[in-house]
Amino acid sequence: MTAPEDRQARLASVRARLDELGLPALLVTDITNVCWLSGFTGSSGYVLLGPNRTIFATDSRYTEQARSECLGFELVTLETSGPDEVAGLLKGLRADCVGFEASRVSVHLHRLISEALRGVTTLEPTVDLIDQLRLVKSALEIRAIEAACAVADRAVAHVLPQLRPGVSERDLMLELEWFVRRTCGAEVAFPSIVLTGARTALPHGRPGQQKIAPGDFVLFDFGARVDGYCSDITRTFVVGRATDEQRRVYRVVHEALERSIAAVLPSAAGKDVDAVARDHIGAAGYGAYFGHGLGHSIGLAVHDGPTLGKRSATVLAPGMVTTVEPGIYLPHLGGVRIEQDLVVEREGPRVLTQASTELTEL
Ligand code: ZN
Ligand code: ZN
Repeated sequence: MTAPEDRQARLASVRARLDELGLPALLVTDITNVCWLSGFTGSSGYVLLGPNRTIFATDSRYTEQARSECLGFELVTLETSGPDEVAGLLKGLRADCVGFEASRVSVHLHRLISEALRGVTTLEPTVDLIDQLRLVKSALEIRAIEAACAVADRAVAHVLPQLRPGVSERDLMLELEWFVRRTCGAEVAFPSIVLTGARTALPHGRPGQQKIAPGDFVLFDFGARVDGYCSDITRTFVVGRATDEQRRVYRVVHEALERSIAAVLPSAAGKDVDAVARDHIGAAGYGAYFGHGLGHSIGLAVHDGPTLGKRSATVLAPGMVTTVEPGIYLPHLGGVRIEQDLVVEREGPRVLTQASTELTEL
């Protein structure tokens, strides 16, 4: 899934970061970070980086898979994957201090491992060390995300003709996911959201038996996964003629989308891009109805890291891939969200999702 040169560059970038922090070793437990570093696509494994050692450890279920995926790694087969075994491996790194992923290791596991290491090695918390490096994508990663966006666009085109009164949210969701998996040969990136009527005001509602009624907003939020990489797209449609209020809300969200996309430039602060959308929606009188952040990084994970939000500390850089997804959610009317995926380039943003964002009445 990852090219060997990509993997070498990633290992080098992590080691450079460890040098900056004065850490001689690192234990990677987050499975997405493990995948990014090693190429391993299974569900259980660790990466251990020490002075002169690059280890991938997993249990016997995955030994063969690791042999073909984790090229260039010293492979260790664990018997139990328990804390004692992990501690034993860490001792073997011969480092006086080992970094660990503080936001991913439970208090319980930390206690057990540090007790087993007492007097030999201390554990040092790191926060988002690899997550930060993952934000900037390689050309290969961007190609996979582009392919996932193309699948999402095809799926939007596929379900549009099926939006008519009487069709349930759940049937539309199944049709969408069947198309992504069967016709496009991709995976769904996360449980798809399909909502109709007032339920579109639930930003992350789950599809149910509710049927489309004439005049409803219908909101789709879904993604495809290609070669491990995700897309994430939202479109909102009106089944029938839009009312003046529906038209107004859609226009404000669409303007917020266009303005904030134009602000996705290298060196821009994520919180400033968020403010472009938030100020526009606020000026239109809907500020109280846009609660979530403007966008997030996408990559191996759908929420691949923070990018655009009120408190985002991210400074945009070429190669970052982010969603931009303003929304307005009115309990009496329903919600409108439009979500685009884009890559930050030196010259400006390049939008990857191509399905129309204009108000579509069906
Ligand atoms: Zn989404
Ligand atoms: Zn999203």
